[in-house]
Amino acid sequence: MTLTADLSASTSFDLGPARALSCRECRHQIPLAAEFACPQCFGPLEVAYDFGTVTRESIEAGPKSIWRYQQLLPVPSNVREHPNTEPGLTRLIKADRLGAELGIRNLWVKDDTGNPTHSFKDRVVAVALAAARELGFTVLCCPSTGNLANAVAAAASRAGWDSVVLIPSSLEQAKVQMTAVYGGTLLAVDGNYDDVNRLATELAAEHEDWAFVNVNVRPYYAEGSKTLGFEVAEQLGWRLPEQVVIPVASGSQLTKVDKSFTELGALGLVEPTPYKIFGAQATGCSPVSKAFAEGHDVIQPVRPDTIARSLAIGNPADGPYVLDTTRRTGGAVADVSDEEVVAAIRLLARTEGVFAETAGGVTVATTKKLVETGQLDPDAETVLLITGDGLKTLDAVADQVGPTATVPATTKAVRAALADRA
Ligand SMILES: *Cc1c(COP(=O)(O)O)cnc(C)c1O
Ligand SMILES: [Zn+2]
Repeated sequence: MTLTADLSASTSFDLGPARALSCRECRHQIPLAAEFACPQCFGPLEVAYDFGTVTRESIEAGPKSIWRYQQLLPVPSNVREHPNTEPGLTRLIKADRLGAELGIRNLWVKDDTGNPTHSFKDRVVAVALAAARELGFTVLCCPSTGNLANAVAAAASRAGWDSVVLIPSSLEQAKVQMTAVYGGTLLAVDGNYDDVNRLATELAAEHEDWAFVNVNVRPYYAEGSKTLGFEVAEQLGWRLPEQVVIPVASGSQLTKVDKSFTELGALGLVEPTPYKIFGAQATGCSPVSKAFAEGHDVIQPVRPDTIARSLAIGNPADGPYVLDTTRRTGGAVADVSDEEVVAAIRLLARTEGVFAETAGGVTVATTKKLVETGQLDPDAETVLLITGDGLKTLDAVADQVGPTATVPATTKAVRAALADRA
């Protein structure tokens, strides 16, 4: 994978170290622009860079947010002069108690619930907003399975932009309200995510000042996921972990964490030690896991039916690249039932004090399964990406957890309830 830009591609935009857009299929390059499909083969475009000298010291001296990696992102030099959210630098915790339950000796949890709207989507949206401003857009938009809607609406209001957000009408109430509260236009569509995504693609073609973060500025947006990998490496003391487990919706995050590790190695910021990348899906929406198991290179789209709605993309754009990445690094993709997801949410909360949304349950439950099937090495240092907050998917656990007892306001009743606990 060569990431070096062909410097003959010229541009009038200041997007930091970004130099061109490069086709992920045929490697054709075009100048930086609001494009997402290759003019030659219609393959997806990604950002190609010419990185200057980047040192650990310059990163460590930066702000306590994703902007400390500004020199590695497609954002303008003056990015911090404009209001934006300040996601990132979320905690990486040693998860010994969860590790003991899963049989993994050296386990870490990257807790991305600590972002401004409580999911990793704040990272990609902040980068998309910064790039979109430079590219001349004025309205921030997205089709979303929920978390992206929250992040886009919040970032737009922070920046003083209008927003237009499209969601499937079946979304969790918390995600609907957490979008609506920021103002902006929120359209609940009677359809699934794939319907909403198709509508967004059509609207993007009709409104030239609308930046659909994951459609017409997707190459820039996607790069924001690299910051998860950068942070994990920096927080481990500038090392790459041996194994990472990542939830898969469109698959973008998984492929960009791989890209981040490759870039850190190429820039000499870490030893380029080998690592394995694992993908996690819910069985009710597991097209990538299915293709992995069957040894296929193409993804057969599915109609999602799972409580893990943030991962419910039946036709994942980066699915084939997830297969490439997991196979190339020696990882795997697996899937788990909704019952396993709920049990894993409770396990993570009980052992580490981290309350994850359903996507986090997918990651933990899939990790458990991968250990049991022998695909994940229990002796290798492992990082789990917990990408969203359980407060947004309370319904998933609502009928399973509650007060130990409800008692009258008397000492006697409390004592009796405490005695009854066993
Ligand atoms: C969107 C999302 C993902 C997956 O993102 P992709 O890059 O589309 O694969 C994972 N976890 C949560 C909580 C999300 O909202
Ligand atoms: Zn191409």
